[in-house]
Amino acid sequence: MLFKDFSVYLQKIEKTTLRLEITDLLSQLFSKLSPTEGKLASYLLLGQLAPNYQGIEFNLATKTMIKVVSRAYNLPEEEVKKKYKEIGDLGEVVWQVAEGKETEGKLSIEEVYRHLYKVAKEEGEGSVERKQYLMAELLKQLDPLSSKYVVRIPLGKLRLGFSQLTILDALSWRLVGDKSWRPLLEKAYNVRSDIGIIVEMILNHLQKKEKLEVLKELLAKMTVQSGIPIRPALASRLPSFEEIIAKLPQAGVEPKYDGLRTQIHAWREKGRKKDSLFSKETDVKVKIFSRNLEDLTPMFPEIKESAIELVERSNLQGVILDSESISFDPQTGRFYPFQETIKRKRKYNVAELRRQRPVRTYVFDILYFDGEDLLTQPLSKRRSYLNKILAKPVGCLNLTPQHLVKDKKEMETLFEEYVSAGLEGIMVKKIDSVYQAGARNFNWVKFKPSALTSVEDTFDLVVLGWYQGKGKRNKFGIGAFLVGVYNPRDDNYLTVSKIGTGLTDDQWRELHKRCLEIKAPHKPANYVVPKELACDFWTEPSLVVEIKADEITRSPLHTSGYALRFPRLVRFRDDKLPTQATTPEEMKEMMEG
Ligand code: AMP
Repeated sequence: MLFKDFSVYLQKIEKTTLRLEITDLLSQLFSKLSPTEGKLASYLLLGQLAPNYQGIEFNLATKTMIKVVSRAYNLPEEEVKKKYKEIGDLGEVVWQVAEGKETEGKLSIEEVYRHLYKVAKEEGEGSVERKQYLMAELLKQLDPLSSKYVVRIPLGKLRLGFSQLTILDALSWRLVGDKSWRPLLEKAYNVRSDIGIIVEMILNHLQKKEKLEVLKELLAKMTVQSGIPIRPALASRLPSFEEIIAKLPQAGVEPKYDGLRTQIHAWREKGRKKDSLFSKETDVKVKIFSRNLEDLTPMFPEIKESAIELVERSNLQGVILDSESISFDPQTGRFYPFQETIKRKRKYNVAELRRQRPVRTYVFDILYFDGEDLLTQPLSKRRSYLNKILAKPVGCLNLTPQHLVKDKKEMETLFEEYVSAGLEGIMVKKIDSVYQAGARNFNWVKFKPSALTSVEDTFDLVVLGWYQGKGKRNKFGIGAFLVGVYNPRDDNYLTVSKIGTGLTDDQWRELHKRCLEIKAPHKPANYVVPKELACDFWTEPSLVVEIKADEITRSPLHTSGYALRFPRLVRFRDDKLPTQATTPEEMKEMMEG
């Protein structure tokens, strides 16, 4: 398919806010694409070139893109800048300035993709200039509408208002004419974390006109693979120990550490070595992924070394571990708060940070052991593997303690013990549960001290936009902001609170700065916001904030149906994606108990 024709779909999708219409358009689009085109198009539709874990970044700032536009269309930079200031979206600017330019737009989706890939891959000295040149050359070959979308992709601003889940819905429509295959497709996506592969597979199946049974088998065979992240299992909440025990009568209680989620893959590509204990050189590969499936490997050399040691020492073929890593003071052994651990993500100064603030990794699950996929094994069995290989700590890798409890009293005692030792709370896990990648359900329940003090609890909410401050508030350029929950069912954001107090001056300043970075030219299509709450400025769904509140109430105004009393900002949750924010179901659960 020509990119020009693809852009017509992008435009239609951009114009609608109706989920069904978007799904229908995507389904129509997929009916016209070859499997390879479908794969590449699915990345482009999400404004990417590859799944997150491959870490392909454009590193092309708006400033540079303004230069690209001026070069491609022979316009003074000042003029492009001025137009950008007026319109607030470089895509629209390009569409306007390219209007009437005689370009046939002969490039295919694949050619545009490869071109963008080249731009992203330029690295090192002089790469900014080379990126500029390549982008400008690409724009020159595109028709105005295609240019509008192509310019937005490297800026991370394609804003079509849907996520992978809607793509899965569209595939299900293509297969059976309704959404009923989404759970099956989602399951496969959760272990592969690569939407392109799933799209390619389904289009392949449709092309071959095979029976659905064949596809079902293929999907079921998609098991974990070393080096490819699995979407992490997530925890739900319940308001009291009684309710936890009622829902999880056979429970394992673990401490909840306030660090960073780390999924550790360590494996040998060529299989087990016979003389591994004696060889100096290791052939063990390690990858560490965050909860958002970003590659964290360079940031945690001590975890990498320990994982190699573990595989070498037990002479394994490979393991995938799920864990929490938390930095500590090497002098006192005390854990640092989350904000310190996350500093490692800045990528520079890792050696220094490692010395001053090393991490300890608490392994709480194992998803793959020596060639065997453990996702469908019960937790008790998975723990037995862990007990074997981590009976003693290996480097910074420690086994997370787990106690089997049968009554409320035991659970309460453990909770108090952990909290007084400075930990965040407890994680209660159903011991016969499988590992449900990507799912938030009652296999895991988290419980923090805040849950005990009235209904006060914290929520991870997405910043949707902000309101201009009046009077005193104006000094930060922001008077209040609107936050919402993520609704996975319809792949959209619903409002829960307009927050105008509960922030320190520094927090207001930082919030304003962050909001400016993600400012959207108009309300994103997947925000469901009542007219009364329309923001003065909108933001892309990107920033997750942890909000504490005294109470959840029902709300006729907010589109989630819930509101928060006395909300205040606890911290910015840079480790969470907007699609990992609190859901309306969780709000319901917490309110009704
Ligand atoms: P939350 O971020 O509040 O939704 O809590 C879930 C997170 O707690 C997980 O994503 C892990 O990063 C973290 N965590 C800490 N300790 C544990 C544990 N023992 N088991 C599972 N997750 C844990």
